[in-house]
Amino acid sequence: MEIKICGIVYEISYEKEIEFTAWGSINHVHCTIKLRKDLNPQCQDTAFIEEVIHGILAHTGFQGKHNETLIQSIANGLYQAGITRDSFEITGGK
Ligand SMILES: [Zn+2]
Repeated sequence: MEIKICGIVYEISYEKEIEFTAWGSINHVHCTIKLRKDLNPQCQDTAFIEEVIHGILAHTGFQGKHNETLIQSIANGLYQAGITRDSFEITGGK
């Protein structure tokens, strides 16, 4: 599965565990997004949206540590507005 963030292709994978017990992570060097496999689908959606926001910020000049509380708030707000993983153009199946 892949998604383009600012034109850059990121590979999406579902992992048993992710560092720091996070729900998701994004790596801008290897262009990967990892989501916890054991999360319920709703939490996977919010985690996915959050990682996409991180990617957008990284590719638009906001390098380094992002404000996690702000990004999680935006991700949760988008989810409440009806945005899910299905809202994005993900290629290669789910
Ligand atoms: Zn985050």
